[in-house]
Amino acid sequence: MSFDLLKTPITYLKGVGPKRAELLQKELGVFYFGQLLEHYPFRYIDRSQVHRISHITSDQAYVQIMGTIRSAETVGSRQNQRFSAILADDSGTIELLWFKGVSHAKERITPGQKYLVLGKPNFFKGAYSIAHPELELVQSPEQIARRKGFQPIYSSTEKLKKFGLHTRGLEKILRNLLKTTENTIPENFPSRLIQNYKLMGREEAFRQIHFPQSPEALEKARRRLKFEELFFIQLRILRVKQKKARLKGHIFNDVGTLLNRFYREKIPFELTAAQKRVIREIRKDTADGYQMNRLLQGDVGSGKTMVALMCMLIALDNNTQTSLMAPTEILAAQHYTNISQMLQGLDIQVELLTGSTKQSQRKTILNDLARGTIRILIGTHALIEEAVQFNNLGFVVIDEQHRFGVAQRARLWKKNTIPPHVLVMTATPIPRTLAMTVYGDLDCSVIDELPPGRKPVKTVHFTDAQRLKVFGFMKKEIAKNRQVYVVYPLIHESQKMDLKDLMDGYESIVRAFPLPHYAISIVHGKMKTRDKDYEMSRFIKGETQILVSTTVIEVGVDVPNASVMVIENAERFGLSQLHQLRGRVGRGADQSYCILMTKDKLTQDGRKRIGTMVHTQDGFVVAEEDMKLRGPGDLEGTKQSGILNLKISDIIRDEKILKAARDIAGKVLNDDPSLEKPENAPMRNYLMHIGESSAHWSRIS
Ligand code: ADP
Ligand code: MG
Repeated sequence: MSFDLLKTPITYLKGVGPKRAELLQKELGVFYFGQLLEHYPFRYIDRSQVHRISHITSDQAYVQIMGTIRSAETVGSRQNQRFSAILADDSGTIELLWFKGVSHAKERITPGQKYLVLGKPNFFKGAYSIAHPELELVQSPEQIARRKGFQPIYSSTEKLKKFGLHTRGLEKILRNLLKTTENTIPENFPSRLIQNYKLMGREEAFRQIHFPQSPEALEKARRRLKFEELFFIQLRILRVKQKKARLKGHIFNDVGTLLNRFYREKIPFELTAAQKRVIREIRKDTADGYQMNRLLQGDVGSGKTMVALMCMLIALDNNTQTSLMAPTEILAAQHYTNISQMLQGLDIQVELLTGSTKQSQRKTILNDLARGTIRILIGTHALIEEAVQFNNLGFVVIDEQHRFGVAQRARLWKKNTIPPHVLVMTATPIPRTLAMTVYGDLDCSVIDELPPGRKPVKTVHFTDAQRLKVFGFMKKEIAKNRQVYVVYPLIHESQKMDLKDLMDGYESIVRAFPLPHYAISIVHGKMKTRDKDYEMSRFIKGETQILVSTTVIEVGVDVPNASVMVIENAERFGLSQLHQLRGRVGRGADQSYCILMTKDKLTQDGRKRIGTMVHTQDGFVVAEEDMKLRGPGDLEGTKQSGILNLKISDIIRDEKILKAARDIAGKVLNDDPSLEKPENAPMRNYLMHIGESSAHWSRIS
């Protein structure tokens, strides 16, 4: 048996044809038989259950009832005609309505007859009704007793519905498909694995997921298909990792003169245990002959940049160049200033290259870079341009990887015959389950402790009605020579409303904090880079006390004297984003504050999110919570990766299955790294089968 049959174009399925095939492709991305099999129902109706009319509630998506038609009539004006029938059982009555197909409905319905009715109840003007119900004349009691099992409900689209592919239409073609493919859907697991983990067979699972015969069978089918989905993701990740492990890399075995000097002369503090551990991990990984690909996670201010810098020095000690790539010019410039300052006296040439570097200077930099006199190059994605050629690039640090596309990262590798070691830093903690799936191929280091002496940021929630109180608090802090951020959400830079919010807010702040007592900076995405940088630098130098901005300050800017972060319309931010913003304060020794402003009335969801922020400082907890509330698809970084296009599994709810899938995939590969053993042929074949249809896989760096 081969997988070929599942690659049959959908147009050849009975009941489909060219027009419907085209729509299935466009609307659902279904091209082949196999893809239609994976268009799973999102819900089922238990057809063995008949509800009483008086028990109908508005939270029922579908309900099946049985009763006698009392009356039926066409009502409304000619243009606005509808057909209305009243159905009654011994508990009450309900109106059945047709806005379309009026004459057809009229023909089918005879008052006094008994019908089985299925539909979605609507609550309108104090009564329930069902529009366009499915209807079946009941002629004998046995007819009802025979009804068993579950009816699948499929998601559809307006266009599909127009061509008869509403849930019932889809159900019909799926029945055809299961008939056509009967006894031909190949298994993709070895039989031993199926036995060991008590999995349902593949074909049986497809059958039961679409047309379950019992709740137990449905559960088993779900488990099997979830396991399969997660297993093959893990198998592929682990194989990518396997292949990459074979990439030869620079060997950094020099003990590190520069590193030691830097450590002795330049660092006034003791490294945290977590920092030391991560440096050890990286040292080991850069000395074993293979290229390093490592993700460094750690909360804002946990000392990731310090670790990265020390590792860059190791690379310099081993006669290679290094580069650090940041997502914005402001951030790149700040890294440049900090690093230049810290390395003073060590005789290391550090340069900054961004989009706004002057042409003449750029030329000099490129020259020195190619000759190898520049040892550290810091910049934005200007660094990955073709013209930027290193003499011998050994180590690359990428800050805040979420802003860099995977493809951009890959281009860095090509800057050398031996690929440089890559360290990706992120302050957006990625929940464990997600990391396993998205970054399962990267090795992961975590800094899970903050340097000593940091005071946790006090987070409080105020509503718009309490604004004067908040202004009063800001004044008190400013009187102590502290600085304040006021941040507005700008979800889409083009949204005029958001910009208006920001400008209105700015005006009211200017009124409450007048010159000459106070000076205020404003920064937003619509400003020219030069003006933005000017305003930022005034705040960084302490010339202004308040910085009003959109989320442009979200990443990295370090103003230790800023101790208050006011976030406007906080309910509109994602939790991880709020956490990032909060990380902007609390860098100095003073007590810092994060004030979350929201409108007076919040949704339940909104209250929960704000509550999470007020109660926890732990970025990982925030990220888990964020994912639970918004779903993984919305987390930054997962959208662009596009690999979380899961058909049936849920990364949070199915954590157990995910772990099992990962363990088992690991064992399989340990035992048979290239899947050559005959018993593993089903898996190998299946991998080849799905390989072509998911080109994005090769792009995971
Ligand atoms: P991150 O990159 O994780 O946001 P940084 O490396 O920028 O953190 O460190 C934040 C601040 O803490 C910097 O001013 C840095 O000099 C300081 N720092 C880093 N490590 C330590 C440490 N072990 N003890 C005290 N301060 C530290
Ligand atoms: Mg290595």
